[in-house]
Order: sequence, then C-alpha cells, then structure tokens
Amino acid sequence: MAILLKGAEPAEKITAELRERAAALRARGVKPCLAIVRVGARADDLAYERAAAKRCAAAGIELRSAALPESIAQGKLIEKIEELNADAEVHGVLLLRPLPKTLDEAAACAALAPQKDVDGITAVSMASLYSGAGEGYPPCTAEASVRLLKHYNIPLEGAHAAVVGRSLVIGRPVALLLLAENATVTLCHSRTKALEEETSRADILIAAAGSAGIIGAEHVRAGQAVVDVGINTAPDGSLCGDVRFDECRGIVDAISPVPGGVGALTTAVLAEHVVSAAERATA
Ligand code: NAP
Repeated sequence: MAILLKGAEPAEKITAELRERAAALRARGVKPCLAIVRVGARADDLAYERAAAKRCAAAGIELRSAALPESIAQGKLIEKIEELNADAEVHGVLLLRPLPKTLDEAAACAALAPQKDVDGITAVSMASLYSGAGEGYPPCTAEASVRLLKHYNIPLEGAHAAVVGRSLVIGRPVALLLLAENATVTLCHSRTKALEEETSRADILIAAAGSAGIIGAEHVRAGQAVVDVGINTAPDGSLCGDVRFDECRGIVDAISPVPGGVGALTTAVLAEHVVSAAERATA
C-alpha cells in the first residue's frame, strides 16, 4: 500500500520553526503581520481565511482581515492595497482570488508591492520564479506541492515529473520549482494527447487540473509518487481531488490525500513567506 503524503506533519515542523523566528523578531520589536484582503464572502475564501488565521496564530504571526463588499469599486480596492503597501506594520498581503468579475484582477495584483507579495501574484514574483533569481515568493500551493515531496524524501533530481494543469497559480509554478530541483518536467493540459501515456511514464505526477477524479488507474503505475492538488466537490457534495484515490493508492508508491495533503501544508508555506518578508523588511 502506498505511503500517504500527509501535509500536517511538514506543516507542524515548519510552524515550530516559525514560532522561533517570530519570537526572535518580536524580541527586537517587530511583530510579523499578514493582511488578508477578501472581496465578498465566498465559502472557500472564508474557509481559507480561517485556516490561515489558525496557522498564523500558531506561528506567532498577527493577522489583519480587510473584508470588502462584493460591490466595491476598482478604485477603492486599489486604494486598500496601496494603504497596506504603505503600512510598515504589515509585512505580507494575501489577496484572495478569484475576484468578482466586475473587478480587474490583473490590475489589483499589479498594485501590490512586490516585497509584500507572499503568494506570487505580481510580475516581479513571477519573474523571480522564472529566472531562479531575485527574492520573490512562489505561489504558496505550488511551493507546498514540492515541499510535500521533499519532506517525504521523494527523489526529485533526475526524476521525470508530469504536471497536469498549466495555470499561473499552480501548474506553471510547480513545473518551474521542479525544474529548479533538477527534475525533467512534462507540462500537460487540456489539449495534451494521450494524457495517460504522459502521466504513467513519470516518476512523479502532480495533478492540478481542478477536475474531480480525472486521474485514475490508467494514468499511474507502480513506483510513482502522486501529489493531488485538486480541490473539487464530488456529486455527493463531499470534497475530493483530481485523483481517484481509492483506485490509485493500491498501485503507486506514494500518494497525497484530499483533504489532508497539499492543502494542509499551504498555510504553513504562507506563514513562512510572511516571516521571511518581516525579516527582510526589518534586516
Ligand atoms: P485552473 O486555472 O482551472 O487550471 C486548470 C488547468 O488544468 C488548466 O491548465 C487546464 O488546461 C488543465 N486541465 C483541465 N482539465 C484537464 C484535463 N481533463 N486534462 C488535462 N488538463 C486539464 O485551476 P487552478 O487554479 O490551477 O486549480 C487547480 C486545482 O487546484 C483546483 O481544483 C483548485 O481548487 C485547486 N487548488 C488547490 C489549492 C490547495 O491548497 N490544495 C489551492 C488552490 C487551488 P488548459 O490550460 O488547456 O485549459
């Protein structure tokens, strides 16, 4: 039976390290602080905000919530972001997305100060990930996917990794992070021909398509490690990933569950970015 790649274990380890780093910051009068900007009250945004609040409290990070009405004008949203950019007591800003369709999301992302961009949404952060230089942070979920593999000592160097999904939030940054670890990466998407051939050739499979159960026995093989990034709602209303877990766990060597896999580690990576941003801002 496959090893379960659970996120809680590495998340706790990171949180314990962050408590010490946050305490060292406090000892010199710096309170690491994350501001979350939420427009409207979507259930998944509220759930993520609750999880982030819990993680920040455990890590010794202050949290400020800017809850803005769904009807907010673009100018007012930009004003809020600029206010947080100028606030020296705020070290990281998380803009929950997607924004309502009435707002220009690209312009809102561009308004954020790159040094406070703890979720890799600005052009500066993306360039940093692309070039492997600079101080930008990768998107937290993408980084959590790779950190999960590293925590469980899954070899990345020289491994063949297949990533399913090419979004700017997950697929592409995961591919670049794996490349930086010297993996050989195949990036798959909805137009990929014979997906099952691409995925079953790989040593590592990252499923980030956002489509319930699209990865099954025909896409995997023995010896593989599978990371399921998908968060979907099954027809019965339960939470499920992109991978048919019960079908694949008997075949592969390691697999992350949903929930309890990547999602459980994402807030710890977010907290780590905030503490790093606070350290850099006050060095
Ligand atoms: P997205 O923007 O919708 O992108 C999905 C990607 O998957 C696209 O590149 C799409 O290809 C590809 N795709 C869709 N169906 C496919 C198929 N049948 N075969 C091959 N490729 C396919 O989604 P996202 O924002 O990247 O999110 C992906 C998933 O991660 C979602 O379930 C989301 O809820 C979840 N998520 C998890 C966390 C976490 O903490 N675990 C955080 C954020 C998001 P094209 O480009 O060709 O359209």
